[in-house]
Amino acid sequence: MRLIQFVFLVVFVLLPLVLAAEDYYKILGLDKSASERDIKRAYRTLSKKFHPDKNPGDETAQKKFVEIAEAYDVLSTSTTRKIYDQYGHEGVEEHRQGGTAGRPAHDPFDLFSRFFGGGGHFGHAPGHRRGPDMEFRVGIPLRDFYTGRDLRFSIEKQQICEACEGTGSADREVITCDKCHGRGMVIQKHMLAPGMFQQIQMPCDKCRGQGKSIKKPCHVCEGHRVVRNDVETFVTVEPGMDKGTRIVFENEAEESPDWVAGDLILILEEKEAELGSTDEQRTDGTFFRRKGKDLFWKEALSLREAWMGDWSRNITHLDGHVVRLRRNRGEVVQPLSVETVKGEGMPHYSEGHLHDHSDDVDEEPGNLYIEYTVVLPDQMDSAMEKEFHSLWEKWRQKKGVDLAKDSGRPVPPPEPARDEL
Ligand SMILES: [Zn+2]
Ligand SMILES: [Zn+2]
Repeated sequence: MRLIQFVFLVVFVLLPLVLAAEDYYKILGLDKSASERDIKRAYRTLSKKFHPDKNPGDETAQKKFVEIAEAYDVLSTSTTRKIYDQYGHEGVEEHRQGGTAGRPAHDPFDLFSRFFGGGGHFGHAPGHRRGPDMEFRVGIPLRDFYTGRDLRFSIEKQQICEACEGTGSADREVITCDKCHGRGMVIQKHMLAPGMFQQIQMPCDKCRGQGKSIKKPCHVCEGHRVVRNDVETFVTVEPGMDKGTRIVFENEAEESPDWVAGDLILILEEKEAELGSTDEQRTDGTFFRRKGKDLFWKEALSLREAWMGDWSRNITHLDGHVVRLRRNRGEVVQPLSVETVKGEGMPHYSEGHLHDHSDDVDEEPGNLYIEYTVVLPDQMDSAMEKEFHSLWEKWRQKKGVDLAKDSGRPVPPPEPARDEL
């Protein structure tokens, strides 16, 4: 019994130490060479993933959320990052307790709201305002849908001013109005008659209805609390994704201290095919047409090829690999006939977690359909024309077929005799 109590004691005393000793870079999934932007990106992604609002009742996630905030707090400021790199956790701790240059650690929810607004929560709870969603269309060539690609693009949007952390104040101090206690409104009583009062709600005259005031406006946002920035966004297009796919970046729409940012929705569109400038963009595949999982291509054959066979074609696919089409001598291809090349369509793509590899899901890639067109020569060498003509005459007399007779069409009625009057 004693021993068990002792073990518990050890575990509970040591646990916080063990957690605190976790490397900040590791918490953010980065290494020491990470740039400021990497750190911001890691924080944005991880803090959303482990936010307690998204993981109700999950204590591990909650701890993780706090750790991520702590790691970001230290690594996002160059002074504390340097101290951490040199002296580790204790160095940072000492620096903070020294307290001259070091600012205190942020509350994890405050930090979260600096990125996403809305008081640090996801805004699904009543009372949390949510900003509008934002749609953004990006056109990519078919090749990128086939091979997959990491895309990087920039979107202009409103962001919470980082310089003043959304306060609008140069020293980040916001003074709550003492007349209206931050409400922005005051109630005035008018006496209509002795003992009879009318109450009127009016905007506070001291703060002009703002509820709070700042001494010196932030020089970056001029007190507006938000700025407009071109924000780089990254997305991975997975091989086989459909056009029209909507990729949702939670809480990445326009930010404001007054609301939780809505979602940024990226819509993948297929760009009109155009001849590229590099060799790898000059594949036949560039001009494939896509319908769902399948691809379509028109291949032209000469009369001789279509009729006599004995030909081959190398079609360069979207990623440059070659699909070989061929016919032996004597194999006829009818105009407008379609050949199916199995498995050469788009790769299979499914959002893994949606339909968990169940057996009834078709995970095969699509097909490539080749439609043949036959091009007849419109000019012929006269000697050749003569030879063909005599050959045809010879065979026509021997085995000629009257197409009008054999076509199954009704025979036209004989012309009525004309009265010669
Ligand atoms: Zn006021
Ligand atoms: Zn500002």
